[in-house]
Amino acid sequence: MHEYDTENQALVRSVVDYALARLVEEPPLRPVKTAHELQALVGKTITAEGLGGNEALSRYAEHLAPSTIAADNPRYLAFVAGAPTPAATAFDFAVTSSAVAGSSWLDGAGLVHAENEALRWIADLAGLPKAAGGCFVTGGTMGNLSALVTARDAANRGRVSAGTTRPERWAVVASASSHASIGSAARVMDIDVIVADLDEELRLTGDSVAAAIRNRPDHTEIFAVVATAGTTNVGVVDALDSIAQVCDIHGIWFHVDGAYGGAALAAPSVKHRFKGISRCDSLIVDPHKWLFSPFDCAALIYRDPTPARLAHTQHAGYLDPLIDETVFNPSDHAHVLTRRARGLPFWFSLAVYGTNAYRDAIEQTLTVARATRDLVLRSAHLELVIEPELSVVAFRRQGWDAQDYQAWCDQLLTAGMALLTPTTFDGQPAMRVCIINPRTTVDDLAEILATLNPVA
Ligand SMILES: *Cc1c(COP(=O)(O)O)cnc(C)c1O
Repeated sequence: MHEYDTENQALVRSVVDYALARLVEEPPLRPVKTAHELQALVGKTITAEGLGGNEALSRYAEHLAPSTIAADNPRYLAFVAGAPTPAATAFDFAVTSSAVAGSSWLDGAGLVHAENEALRWIADLAGLPKAAGGCFVTGGTMGNLSALVTARDAANRGRVSAGTTRPERWAVVASASSHASIGSAARVMDIDVIVADLDEELRLTGDSVAAAIRNRPDHTEIFAVVATAGTTNVGVVDALDSIAQVCDIHGIWFHVDGAYGGAALAAPSVKHRFKGISRCDSLIVDPHKWLFSPFDCAALIYRDPTPARLAHTQHAGYLDPLIDETVFNPSDHAHVLTRRARGLPFWFSLAVYGTNAYRDAIEQTLTVARATRDLVLRSAHLELVIEPELSVVAFRRQGWDAQDYQAWCDQLLTAGMALLTPTTFDGQPAMRVCIINPRTTVDDLAEILATLNPVA
């Protein structure tokens, strides 16, 4: 099965043709099937003799693929969608066919160099120094975990070199708006999360971080503060500058989670909201969200990669050949070893279209988000739950409860019109749309919101 014979050539051609057709044709939005229904449709697929290429591909294309919802549909407005460029999508295949593990310089030098160029673009947008660096990981969840592991390791080393003991409990300061992955990282690391208050604009601020540090429980030490640059639910950017100030004073690691919002650093109309981001110790931004890269791809960048290497480099006789201080090994900077060069599609797309095209595409989504806000404000039966800062617009329909929102979302999907999902805001049910696809238009939103009109 490994020979590139005529049979395999034909198979590769038909898979590539299938993938190309998908790029050209927008798959319809429709509800997915249950596991039971899929089982009945697709039958047993793993057999001793193999199904053969045609049969396997047709079962996938006819039964499995249609039971998925493509995130690049311009009306995928739930969660945070994805909208990869054709160049990025095509290059994802090139990464696979290169069969290079992007773990180390030894065998991945050229790929690693390209990835580092792409990381550098983000580091420059954030105003990080020349020495900054890191690697691409699977997602924001892994980026946040890897950054916090580095921060705690640095804090532990600080304790050891100062001759002091470790605290009974390590903790991070975060907020009620922090992404769920911060709580998840805390469980993995067995640390505590101290939830600092938000101000009236739902921002984490230096003052509230300082108060959380002051009022920390006995026997607990804080090793990092996590600020969010664009909350997932409503797109608020925390008061990064004042938080950086407090972290400086206390000598605490400052991590910025820009998984969703960090892309907007490239957008001049909102860049001012990120003031202070240049002072972070670590930053994550997901190119698979608002930077038009295929899944899965998150950029993890450290101001100084040295503590990351101390925390993450794996050691063993069979790995020692990789240790070389004069080269850059991506895997030394995150909780990973073998690593897909998942930053490469992003790099290729940036190289092909240029950074101005990225700026314009992100501005385009912000323009549609602002127009959506105006549509909500003009509708007597709708209200904004918060003034949008980035590209999430959250709103409520007068008199509706959680069930009404869910029923509306179900109807939209059944009608093939859009994928939306409800949320809660301030403990109350609400709707949100997150616009990251430059192909999403104001007309799309107008048509969707019109279905909320009160029956005459
Ligand atoms: C999406 C998101 C994450 C998690 O990223 P994944 O890529 O889904 O793991 C973390 N933080 C924020 C703010 C996010 O929006």
